[in-house]
Amino acid sequence: MKISTKCLHSGYKPGNGEANALPIYQSTTFTYDSTDHVGQLFDLSASGHFYTRLSNPTTDVVEQKIADLEGGIGALCTSSGQSATTLAILNILHAGDHMVSTATIYGGTVNLFAVTMKKMGIEVTFVDADASDEEIQKAFKPNTKAMFGETIANPAIAVLDIERLAGIAHKNGVPFIVDNTFATPVLCRPFEFGADIVVHSTTKYMDGHAVQMGGVIVDSGNFDWTNGKFPEFTVPDESYHGIVYTEAFGKAAYITKARVQMMRDLGAAQTPMGAFLLNLGLETLPLRIKQHSKNAEEVAAYLATRTDKIEFINYPTVPGNKYYDLAEKYLPEGKSGVIAFSIKGGREVAAKFIDSLKMINLVVHVADIRTCVLHPASSTHRQLTDEQLVAGGVTPGLIRLSVGLEDVEDILEDIKQALDQI
Ligand SMILES: *Cc1c(COP(=O)(O)O)cnc(C)c1O
Repeated sequence: MKISTKCLHSGYKPGNGEANALPIYQSTTFTYDSTDHVGQLFDLSASGHFYTRLSNPTTDVVEQKIADLEGGIGALCTSSGQSATTLAILNILHAGDHMVSTATIYGGTVNLFAVTMKKMGIEVTFVDADASDEEIQKAFKPNTKAMFGETIANPAIAVLDIERLAGIAHKNGVPFIVDNTFATPVLCRPFEFGADIVVHSTTKYMDGHAVQMGGVIVDSGNFDWTNGKFPEFTVPDESYHGIVYTEAFGKAAYITKARVQMMRDLGAAQTPMGAFLLNLGLETLPLRIKQHSKNAEEVAAYLATRTDKIEFINYPTVPGNKYYDLAEKYLPEGKSGVIAFSIKGGREVAAKFIDSLKMINLVVHVADIRTCVLHPASSTHRQLTDEQLVAGGVTPGLIRLSVGLEDVEDILEDIKQALDQI
C-alpha cells in the first residue's frame, strides 16, 4: 500500500459485521478465562491485552498504523511528545551514560536533556548539525550510547542531514534517534536514510486539529543491540523472570523493552480516546500536510517580497536558503507548514505585528489546521535579553508562523494588513 492508503487501512481490518470506523475500547482492563493464561501474559509468552497502561486494542491499531507509515517494525504510543522522547532515551541510557544531540532541537527537548536528564546522571553534548563529520565526531566518548536530532528544527527551520549523521552514529556503534514531528512520515521517513528510532509529538500534525496530546516511539528493528555496548538488552531482566530481550524478541527487542519495562514503570500511556482522536487525524494526514506545505511555500514567497519590513525568512524554498538542497533530498513532497521570519525593528514592532493580525490566532502551538503565530521574545523566551536571544538563534523580531489550511488568499491578506500597520 502507498502512504495515503496506509493512513486509512493499516492496523485495522474489520471482520464481517464489525465497526467500519476504529472502535474505542474505553476499558482499563481485559478479562481472561484462566489464571494460567494470565500467567502466560505476564511471562510475555502469550500476547494479549490485560491493562491499558501496557496496551489497549484501540491504541494498538494506531501503533501498528504509525509503525507501517514510518516503515518500522513496531511502535509505542505515549501521553505526549515529551514522554516519547524521555522513554525512547531511558530505554537505552542510564546514569553515567552520555548522548550526542544536535543543538537545533525543540526547546522542551533542550530542557529535558540539559536540565532533567542531567539530574538523572545522563550527560548530553550538543553539536552543530551542520558542522563537519570531524567536528561532530569529537563529541563522542567511550560512554556515548545514542545520537539525537530533529528532521526539521525550529526556529532555524533547519533540515537535518539524516544519512550523514546516521553514518557518524553507526561508526560509533550507537543508534540514531530522530524527532520527525514537523515532517511526519508523509514528507520524510528517516528509517530510509539510516535512522534507527523515530519519535514524534503526535500533538502536532499527526493529530493536526489541536485536540489531543500524544507522542509515539517507532522502532526500525535495524539496530544491533548485541554489539557489546548495550547489556540491558542482552543480559536477563530479573523484573521479567530473566527474559533476554534480544533473544526473546529479536529485531523487536527495543520496542518490546520500551513497552514492558519503560511504560510499565514510568506509565506515560496514551488513552484509548486519545488514540481514537489521533487515528482520526492520521486518516487525513497526507492531504493536510501537503496543503500545509503548499500554503507555507506561497506565504514564504510573499514574505520574501516584503524586504521593507522583514529582515530574513527561514523556509527552505525561499531563494538563497541554506537548507534548500537538503530539503530537496529529504522533503521532496513538501517542506511542511512552519516558517520563521524576523521583523525589522525589534520586540515592540514584532509584537505590534502580531497584535494587528485579525484572523491568525496567537497560540503557543504549531502544526494546527488553523494558521497560528507566536512571538518567542514576548512569550516562550520572554525572560531573555536581546543578546541572549540572538545567541539562541532567536532574534527579538522573530515570528514563528504555522501556516494552516485556510484559503491562502485569506492568510496572505491578514499578514499584509498587519505588515502595513508597522
Ligand atoms: C511539541 C514538540 C515536542 C513535544 O511534544 P509535546 O506533545 O508537546 O509533549 C517534541 N518535539 C517537537 C519537534 C515538537 O514540536
